[in-house]
Amino acid sequence: MFERFNAEAQRCIFMARLAALTEKSKNITTLHFLSGIRKESPALFRGVNWAKSPVKLTYLSPDNLRKASQVTGDLLLDAKAKRTLVSAAEIAKKAGSGHVTPVHLLACILATDAKLRKALTKAGLEIEAPGKSARGSRGESAAGKSEFSSGIGYDLHRLVEKRKLMIGGIEIPFEKGTLGHSDGDVLAHAICDALLGAASMGDIGTHFPDSDPKWRGVSGLVFLRQVRQYLERKNWKIHHIDAVVILERPKLGPHFPEMREALAKALGMAPEQINLKAKTNEGLGEIGRGEAIAAHTIATIGR
Ligand code: MG
Repeated sequence: MFERFNAEAQRCIFMARLAALTEKSKNITTLHFLSGIRKESPALFRGVNWAKSPVKLTYLSPDNLRKASQVTGDLLLDAKAKRTLVSAAEIAKKAGSGHVTPVHLLACILATDAKLRKALTKAGLEIEAPGKSARGSRGESAAGKSEFSSGIGYDLHRLVEKRKLMIGGIEIPFEKGTLGHSDGDVLAHAICDALLGAASMGDIGTHFPDSDPKWRGVSGLVFLRQVRQYLERKNWKIHHIDAVVILERPKLGPHFPEMREALAKALGMAPEQINLKAKTNEGLGEIGRGEAIAAHTIATIGR
């Protein structure tokens, strides 16, 4: 059944399992689904004042997630949770959507539990359950509110002796490194600019000026974590990053898995959502002469 669920909806269900484990529950319930949706798609709950909400969801803190991830064994969906998954798939199909999204999941939970819907609406939830007909249902109108944006990023740094070569948040063994006020991580910097561009929030120079001594020698991962926070404050979620690093040497391919891990961790996303590529400049120009490294990136965000 889950092959019809998009990646975000699958993550919501995975988080629901961790919520159930955190509570030492024997079953996964629709409330656990809500906890998972809140963790993975917080924008769907914008407007909800959780402090005043009578609906209490499991808080999936990093510590809870770590502990729950270490628990093995199967958990079963309770009857209501099972029905929700089936209905979500049916609603998505009727609506002509190829995949079940978190919006469909949420819509189904609210459609089948009037009490819960009322409590969440009272707490400020802006979307409501779908009506009987798939077309024009409120669930679809919630889906219609989805907003996507993309941005591009570019960076270049000189390669010099007696500097570390930091790319994608990790150190690459090489006889030269990048010159820069911070750590000179072209890939991290280009990703920052792509994300800030997608969110219409300026560029890396605006937020982390090289005239400020506070950013001297700072890791590109610090910038990424900060940019992630800026985006989260505006309810943006990072969906995908594609990047190409242009350099003559050394070969980057063997380091990509570690780079994707480091970048994904800083950005709060899965490594699978980050694609990295490397190119040489065919010996041409300053990059071809091994005097510089550049990176181009594109980021897709949504809310
Ligand atoms: Mg830079």
